[in-house]
Amino acid sequence: MLALSVKVPVNGSKTKNTMSDTHPNSTDSISAQVVATLPSTSVVRFEDFGLASEILRALADQSYVHPTPIQAAAIPVVLQGRDVMGAAQTGTGKTASFSLPIIQLLLAHANTSASPARHPVRALILTPTRELAMQVAENVKIYSQHTPLRSAVLFGGVDISAQTMVLRNGVEIVIATPGRLLDHVQQKTVSLSQTQILVMDEADRMLDMGFLPDLQRIVNLLPKQRQNLLFSATFSGEIKKLANSFLTTPVVIEVARSNATADKVTQVVYKVQEEAKSQVVVHLIRSRALRQVIVFSNTKIGASRLARHLEQEGIKASAIHGDKTQLERIAALDAFKNGDIDVLVATDVAARGLDIAELPCVINVDLPYNAEDYVHRIGRTGRAGASGDAISLYSDKDQALLQDIEKLIKHTIAQAELVGFTPSLARHVGNPERERRGGSQFTSAYSPRKEKIDPWFLKPYEPAQSSVSTSTSEAVSASDAKTKPKNKVAVLLGGTPKT
Ligand code: AMP
Repeated sequence: MLALSVKVPVNGSKTKNTMSDTHPNSTDSISAQVVATLPSTSVVRFEDFGLASEILRALADQSYVHPTPIQAAAIPVVLQGRDVMGAAQTGTGKTASFSLPIIQLLLAHANTSASPARHPVRALILTPTRELAMQVAENVKIYSQHTPLRSAVLFGGVDISAQTMVLRNGVEIVIATPGRLLDHVQQKTVSLSQTQILVMDEADRMLDMGFLPDLQRIVNLLPKQRQNLLFSATFSGEIKKLANSFLTTPVVIEVARSNATADKVTQVVYKVQEEAKSQVVVHLIRSRALRQVIVFSNTKIGASRLARHLEQEGIKASAIHGDKTQLERIAALDAFKNGDIDVLVATDVAARGLDIAELPCVINVDLPYNAEDYVHRIGRTGRAGASGDAISLYSDKDQALLQDIEKLIKHTIAQAELVGFTPSLARHVGNPERERRGGSQFTSAYSPRKEKIDPWFLKPYEPAQSSVSTSTSEAVSASDAKTKPKNKVAVLLGGTPKT
């Protein structure tokens, strides 16, 4: 179960504790707090919040009956117009915890007028990444679908003019990444002068990504009188500083310790050789018949290579990382959500905020350099109460990273042996340079499987070029050798065909 405490500041004076603090450093420098006890969320229903029938209808469409702990805590507080500092990760239901009361509060201004002036921006939700912006925007659209409220999502990497067209018609709720929002401000395609509510989602990541100056510029464009909601997975010193400068006597809401890992996620680590990692991923996916898996890689190149390797092994996979265009990232995400691909190989930044319902498994092909990213990664599974598996691979060189993670989550992760795995020499993606030099460290330790040849090399060959290169015949398996032309590689390598 998620631990929950709601801390309500009382005139910044006396503090009375009725529940133990689950997060000792979280509120040191913010304001005096009173801790309130909440009813169990299984007895609270969305109807109990006094939400409008249009919102309840949208929730019923999603079959949501009971709020998650963060929703039970935050919705009444946001409805009161209070500032909130929420410690909650993606996967706890935090998006609805701010979207639903925002929609409720804005309903007072909802209208069906065609005039853009009647639809000023009243709520601004800032997110660190395009993916999270899309995710939040999708949720807002769903929850407001039976109301006349309009929303728009703004992020970079795509043509700005389509966003400008939407803004021109007027929208009450804007979900944006800071950079693209400022582009619109500069082009005077958006006005923030009537913004009543500001949300900073995943504020810790926004600071990590260097958005503080942009955030300050944006806040300076907003009316002084407004409601502020700040959500962050962790309450670091920097986040507290941000909260102190932007929030007014916030109610602090915490769901679980910031670095706790979800109880329902089964975690396991396998020690493997660095060069065998991609093959181990294939083995895990096949032997467990996994579908809908996110595999985390520390690097863009690692993500791309692994996705390619999986595809070559007949596993439908795609990579998302910062070097992919926004359209490629959206296409990959959609394909994953639709089940057209089974595996999404992602870097941390690209995966931030991704919400894919009931993800059964995440695999860390690399342990993250930053231990907190481990918590974020495995938060992709076991979402909203569902159970999940988090599998991590590590090699000798990652020992210190594993120790950092275990220190952070305050327990040892179970070590397991890989059963039925036989590494092959062929086509692992660990270190292609080394492969080319023939320096794989398991050359002598294991007998390689037959190597599959990229289909490109098996295309029919011109009749005049009939020579057979020794090097080529070594690369073609015995059965392939009977049927396939073998001299293409020799020609490619500069060999002269015999006539
Ligand atoms: P979030 O933390 O906002 O990314 O939400 C995580 C997942 O939980 C999303 O798939 C939501 O659609 C889902 N969710 C949010 N609220 C509820 C709820 N009250 N009951 C069931 N699922 C929910």
